[in-house]
Amino acid sequence: MSEDCIFCRIVRGEIPITATLETDHALVFPDINPATPVHHLVIPKEHIASLDDMTLAHRGIMGDVLYAASEAARLLGVAENGYRLVANTHADAGQEVYHIHFHLMAGRGFRWPPG
Ligand code: 5GP
Ligand code: ZN
Repeated sequence: MSEDCIFCRIVRGEIPITATLETDHALVFPDINPATPVHHLVIPKEHIASLDDMTLAHRGIMGDVLYAASEAARLLGVAENGYRLVANTHADAGQEVYHIHFHLMAGRGFRWPPG
């Protein structure tokens, strides 16, 4: 847990959210500033600053997080048409919040490669 981390505060219930899905190790909730018609964040409850800070000890937790993303996509009804799961990591990718999060984005077609 990190005192000042905004996503740790969400995990602790200090900032209210409507959870899309919660598992033992993961929490899914809507992005406050959606960039796509469907835009949720998938986070580990444990504070891990970025994918670059993931260690072998986090494999189980992160497996749960990835499963939660796939389950949330089904619950949101976007799995069949498709979705994109993105973890911006460090400056070149534009990471702003240093607590691992996957953006679960759907509801329209996406270009490849991304901008
Ligand atoms: P990043 O640029 O770090 O990959 O993305 C951070 C994301 O977190 C952004 O899409 C931003 O809208 C979202 N975000 C930042 N603060 C909050 C918050 O307090 N609540 C929610 N639900 N989303 C947040
Ligand atoms: Zn955190």
